[in-house]
Amino acid sequence: MNTAREWVRDAVAALAREAARSADTHLLHVATPTHPGIDFYFKDESSHPSGSLKHRLARSLFLYALCNGRLEKGQHVVDASSGSTAISEAWFARLLDLEFTAVMPACTAPEKIRMVERLGGRCDLVDDPSHAHARADRHREAGACHLDQFGLAERATDWRGNNNIAESLMSQLARERHPVPTWIVCGAGTGGTSATIGRYLRYRGLDTQLCVAEPTGRAFAIGWSTRDAEAEATRPTVIEGIGRPRAEPGFLYDVVDRVVEVDDARSIETLHRLETLLGQRYGGSSGTNFAACLQLADEMRAAGQRGSVVSLLCDRGDRYAQTLYSPAWLSAHGLATAVTDDRAAAGVSPI
Ligand SMILES: *Cc1c(COP(=O)(O)O)cnc(C)c1O
Repeated sequence: MNTAREWVRDAVAALAREAARSADTHLLHVATPTHPGIDFYFKDESSHPSGSLKHRLARSLFLYALCNGRLEKGQHVVDASSGSTAISEAWFARLLDLEFTAVMPACTAPEKIRMVERLGGRCDLVDDPSHAHARADRHREAGACHLDQFGLAERATDWRGNNNIAESLMSQLARERHPVPTWIVCGAGTGGTSATIGRYLRYRGLDTQLCVAEPTGRAFAIGWSTRDAEAEATRPTVIEGIGRPRAEPGFLYDVVDRVVEVDDARSIETLHRLETLLGQRYGGSSGTNFAACLQLADEMRAAGQRGSVVSLLCDRGDRYAQTLYSPAWLSAHGLATAVTDDRAAAGVSPI
């Protein structure tokens, strides 16, 4: 075997060893007195070693690049990401002893830039966020391997099995009283998670409906109703990781049964309710997911239905200490009342 192929073989083996060392993420069960007979489950993707559900995506993107012959020993790796993907990719680049550059908007939270740098990655900042993809392309022209999360998320994941997120959560539900959920709820950033779950449900012949929880007026919601691959957002959002400005290549509208739009204020209010329920802080998209779960559960309750509703906790709250969990930041964005009202309703005193 030539040395180039030997390196690829060793890199693939290193990814397999990392997967074998890692435990599966927890599926947390929550029953609330407000919804008797309905079980909520949250798959805690924040417990991956690199802190978010992007750990799965980064592992898949590296494996996909290696097995497609696009990534060689000593090659530079690049991707455009302002958030959790860059952190997970930097984590895997370090594992494989490769240099990694994240192309990020200059306005990215300093804490996220520091996290990538702490993992040995570099951040190439662009003033205009819409130039990020073109800048990543320039690195590719100069010889870097572009992991291309938005272009490849939907196909890099092995949706039939290989412990993808859908297979994992369905097996964790096997002994529950409603092992086939009525709803699975997730967000759409790259669209990779919703594509994997939607395909897996059909592949396994399950009845479960898939709902995308989307910040109001963002591109997935706009595009889903008309199947528009060029859809653009009509409203801003402060929720990171989901609610894209434009439809992404990984948006597979046809496997999504429903979209629930959630205003940012409601996402944040629900995020704090989640903290009260679980005793942990999670990122904004987890609040959006839970808000959509509650809306679907309200409809089930009204229809006298029992069953389970499953969703994801996508990343940890400490990444948002300066934003979603900062009272000053929330007031500056006109979102402070959402939190105060919920704490009063839940009988929890503000910290
Ligand atoms: C990426 C991301 C999502 C959405 O997942 P996709 O598989 O990319 O659609 C949700 N929440 C957070 C925090 C993310 O980083």
